[in-house]
Amino acid sequence: MDGPEGLDGTTRGTLVRLPAVGCADFQAGRCLYEERLNPGLHMAWRCTVLARWEAVFDEFLDRAENFGLSEAELGLLWSRRFERLAEESLPCPDVRVGGSESMPECLHLLEDLCLLRLPQCAGPCERFRLREKA
Ligand code: SF4
Ligand code: SF4
Repeated sequence: MDGPEGLDGTTRGTLVRLPAVGCADFQAGRCLYEERLNPGLHMAWRCTVLARWEAVFDEFLDRAENFGLSEAELGLLWSRRFERLAEESLPCPDVRVGGSESMPECLHLLEDLCLLRLPQCAGPCERFRLREKA
C-alpha cells in the first residue's frame, strides 16, 4: 500500500527526477545528446516551417532551371518569393512568437531544430556531461 501523500501531491517515498539543467546536452527541458552525436539524422526533429521553406526553395530552383535566368535574376526572384512566403501565417500550430530574431520567429527554434520535437530530459542519466562554464 502507498504511504501518505506529501505536500507536493506525491506519495511519500516516491523519487521525483528533476530535469538535469547542469547537463551540457540539456536545453529547455529537452535532450540534445542524440542530435549532437548524429547531427541532422533525425529529420522529425527539424522545424516544420523551415522544412517547408526548403521544399518551396527546391521547387523554385527546379522551375527556374527551365528559364535560363542569371544568378542575380534568380536571387531577386527568390527574395520576392520568400518575402511572400514569410508573410503567410506560419504553418505550425505550436509556433511561439516573442522577441527572437530567428527565421521563422519562434522561441522553440534552436538552429534548424524544434525543441518541442526533441526527446525530453527525464533527469540525470548515464550520458550526463557537466556543462562547461561560459
Ligand atoms: S514550434 Fe516553432 S520551431 Fe517548432 S516547428 Fe513550429 S515554428 Fe518550428
Ligand atoms: S541528463 Fe541525460 S537525458 Fe538529460 S539532457 Fe543530459 S544526456 Fe540528455
